[in-house]
Amino acid sequence: MQQRWIVRTLWALVVVAPAGILLAWWLGTVPDEHQPEVGRLVFGNIPDALIALFYVSVAVFLGLAAYLFAIRAKNWSRGADEARTGLWWRRLRELERGLSMRSVLEGGASGVMHSMIYWGFIVLLLGTITLEIDHLLPNNLKFLDGVVYQGYSAVLDAFAVIFLIGLLWAALRRYVTKPWQVRSKTRPEDGVILVLLALIGMTGLAVEAARIAVDGRPDFETWSFVGYSLSSLIPSADAAGVHQVLWISHVAAFLTFLVALPTTKLRHMITSPLNMALSPRERPRGAMREMPNLMEATDIETIGASVVAEFTWKQLLDTDACTLCGRCTSVCPANQTGKSLDPREIILKLGEVAARTASPAISPPVGVDAAITVTSDSVFERITAEELWACTSCRACDEICPVDIEILDKILDMRRYLTLMEGDFPQELGSTFLSMENSSNPYGMSQSGRAKWTDELDFEVKRLGEPGVTAEYLYWVGCAGSFDDRNRKVTVSTARLLHEAGVDFAILGPMELCTGDPARRAGNEYVFQQLALQNIETLNDLGVTKVITQCPHCFNTLGNEYPQLGGEYEVMHHSQLLMDLVAEGRITPKNKSDQRITFHDPCFLGRHNGEFDAPRKLLELVSSDVVEMPRSRDDSFCCGAGGARMWMEEQTGKKINIERTEEAVATGSDIIATGCPFCFIMLDDGVKELGEDEQVQVMDISTLLAERSLD
Ligand code: SF4
Ligand code: SF4
Repeated sequence: MQQRWIVRTLWALVVVAPAGILLAWWLGTVPDEHQPEVGRLVFGNIPDALIALFYVSVAVFLGLAAYLFAIRAKNWSRGADEARTGLWWRRLRELERGLSMRSVLEGGASGVMHSMIYWGFIVLLLGTITLEIDHLLPNNLKFLDGVVYQGYSAVLDAFAVIFLIGLLWAALRRYVTKPWQVRSKTRPEDGVILVLLALIGMTGLAVEAARIAVDGRPDFETWSFVGYSLSSLIPSADAAGVHQVLWISHVAAFLTFLVALPTTKLRHMITSPLNMALSPRERPRGAMREMPNLMEATDIETIGASVVAEFTWKQLLDTDACTLCGRCTSVCPANQTGKSLDPREIILKLGEVAARTASPAISPPVGVDAAITVTSDSVFERITAEELWACTSCRACDEICPVDIEILDKILDMRRYLTLMEGDFPQELGSTFLSMENSSNPYGMSQSGRAKWTDELDFEVKRLGEPGVTAEYLYWVGCAGSFDDRNRKVTVSTARLLHEAGVDFAILGPMELCTGDPARRAGNEYVFQQLALQNIETLNDLGVTKVITQCPHCFNTLGNEYPQLGGEYEVMHHSQLLMDLVAEGRITPKNKSDQRITFHDPCFLGRHNGEFDAPRKLLELVSSDVVEMPRSRDDSFCCGAGGARMWMEEQTGKKINIERTEEAVATGSDIIATGCPFCFIMLDDGVKELGEDEQVQVMDISTLLAERSLD
């Protein structure tokens, strides 16, 4: 629905924009004889015929630009419906971030360069519009004279200089220094755009200089510090002719820009802020796109996305908003360790397939290889399964994208198609799926052993479902916490801390099934729903309302994804509850050690759910030497286990867990702390593989807290 409104608005603009310009012309035909003492006569020295041609041309080209944009937007309409309504305040804030270039500025030097070009252009355009408004106003309302005019002139000259320096910087970056972001992505279009923008800026300054020369170089024009200086180069006898030629050149460059705006990468000036405004959604960050209940639905023809029409219209708009900045690629753990996955390429390839199969034809994204053709609208002509299976679902790409493109959703939608429609998934996942279906956990262990860890405790743990048992909290132990030897110790520590603090908790024991997270991230929505629906039935039957879990994947799935299937619970990560218990004085760390500790942020606790502080606060209570890794908090680097990668072999490139462990070890820490069973396993394997296990220990925050708080 929403995409149709965008297209309709653009179609309306095809008529409305030219009509507005022609109306301005009609209003402006009242002879403007107002020559302020300190100011300028608009269209002075320009013959009436040229003025008429100017207005008609701008009207025609504006209509053409709106038409070309509408065709582009029509291509987004090929996608499936997706609601992006409501949340207006957040949308406005995102729009402001986009229009002000704040998100681009976060990208360091190249962000400054882009902002110089963008803001230079916008201020010059607004200056021209202001001049036109002043021109149309009755004489008694005109405001561009005196000191206002002088300030206006100085500001416009300053921004023209900023604009041109930005363009020079961009040209040097693209053709001389050639950082990796542009090296393989430079096409003739990039040069044409730089020249076109430079022409607009330079002819603008030259027109101003010639006009000042025509006016006899009055002193008050010194505020136009560039134009005034250049005007001395133009002989006064030739000034009128030179001015008209330059004016025509400036207008011609601007009209060319109006056509280039929708047909080249310049379209980002519109599509990127639009995409940002449309990015807020009701669904929590960590939740995958909702699917119908597969256990009940009988009319589902396809699952996931393989052809253009199976992506949503917003996902197709994403491809037109990508600025090719490459920030997503630079933080992708798969890409940075030598896998074939490149999140920027995922967006460009989808955009390419969508553009090359569009009707009427539209140009593909600028970074793609023009020599490659596609013969159908299937993305798998350009995107390989190997790329998709390399993703750890860490969400680093989405987090850093300056224009809010959602890359991870697309990857997971394509995985859904590969797994359920094609049966095309890594061999190792086959046994994981089977274990989840047959044993209700990915380890393939007997459910009867779920609560075996309780044997190590010197107190009884209540079990929900047993006669008369109730509890304030359900302690959701998770599969790793139940079956993995290293993580069982974490479970024991957590239970001891909860007991010590007097928390009223119980477990499910064998009634607890895997949440289904690995199946869902691996595209097997069927197994996910099978497990999730059984769990929800159990939890709802037992009247569970509050859940504690030490696994961020369970935390995310129970809290963010179970509501899609009718399970609404208040879910806390154990770090959050433990921090609350410390704050209430129910757990008291005895002494701080001077062992150096660094914290590895689990992706599903941090980036997916925004919890960065609770684990750190706990660590500061147990050590006086807590240090950060270079990549931490939202910039944290994945351990390599997410996205069901825990259950797949890593055969290409450097192992992600080794890359991360090296970073942690380089901090000189004695302990690498984390708050996720899978991060724990990956990092612990990492220190062993690096031969650092004698010097460095990997520990969960609850084990650390228990060691320093309990006898
Ligand atoms: S989610 Fe992580 S692994 Fe997947 S593409 Fe994005 S950055 Fe790469
Ligand atoms: S998807 Fe976002 S981060 Fe990646 S290249 Fe495009 S704009 Fe940049």
